[in-house]
Amino acid sequence: MTIPAYVERDWERYREWMALCAKGDCRYRDLSASAAAPPVSFPDEESRPRCPGYRASLTMEHAQHVLRSSLCERHRAWWGRRQVWLQQQRVRDAAATKQTAKTPWQEG
Ligand SMILES: [Zn+2]
Repeated sequence: MTIPAYVERDWERYREWMALCAKGDCRYRDLSASAAAPPVSFPDEESRPRCPGYRASLTMEHAQHVLRSSLCERHRAWWGRRQVWLQQQRVRDAAATKQTAKTPWQEG
């Protein structure tokens, strides 16, 4: 069964991204947990394209080609580190607020 052109086009793009990610060219490579997102652009953007952080799988379901996208491994790993970092920030902020702010019924 031939793949519809619109699916083939997207699948081709995802395969390029997955190939880039596999050889280490990924926007999420070594991205710090304190960064809210990867840089908007890289200095060598033109000569060195990078995986934007997504991958996909192509399957047949009920005689239809189904393309499912998900986060690439580096994007997923960064997301995990990011959640831990955000949680630590919240704990730190809460501790700082506790030390400085006084509730109205406190004296002194
Ligand atoms: Zn990637």
